Amino acid sequence: MDMAMHFDRPDVVSSSHTGRLILTASDPHVSPHVPLLIEALAEVGFIGERLSDAGGDAFRTGPMFLSLVAFTGCAVQIRSNPDGRGAFCHVRVSSSFRHPHLLHGRNTRAPRCRECRHRLVDWRERLGHWATHPHAGVTCPNCRETRPPWLWDWKQQGGFGRFFVQVEEIFPGEATPTHTLIDVLTRASGTGWRHFYVQE
Ligand SMILES: [Zn+2]
Repeated sequence: MDMAMHFDRPDVVSSSHTGRLILTASDPHVSPHVPLLIEALAEVGFIGERLSDAGGDAFRTGPMFLSLVAFTGCAVQIRSNPDGRGAFCHVRVSSSFRHPHLLHGRNTRAPRCRECRHRLVDWRERLGHWATHPHAGVTCPNCRETRPPWLWDWKQQGGFGRFFVQVEEIFPGEATPTHTLIDVLTRASGTGWRHFYVQE
């Protein structure tokens, strides 16, 4: 079933990944009880049936999807079936990571120091170290403040978490979670939520 109309997107190369909307707990150390969260998302109609061929916990968008995610502008292309033209919109629920894990992509820019706004330009060179040293602090080259990498300002172009709900395919900024959706996630997990975008 097509949930919205097709239209042309001349700014997007069809072979590249459009992007995904990512929802995660505001506190990057928190991971919710995944089965409870899936149940809550199904109950409100955010997710539909499980996609058996997609691997892991992937779901079709549910009947209330378009009222739980607010699309901005006219450049919206949503399809809930994998066949045919255009991006196939579906929802993936990750398993829990042991430590805060960074999701990043080609849209991710150098994070800024929350104190002095200095950019951490060599962040990509630090990824390996962060992955193997989950408690590593990062000292700002400018103001010398030291804080974990998740306390740098990544904007909505990447971020840390232990668990992610990922909506494919969403161009960064094209869609935002509604208060109702954030409410559902908060009630199902007992913790606040935020969102960002990643393009592979
Ligand atoms: Zn600084």
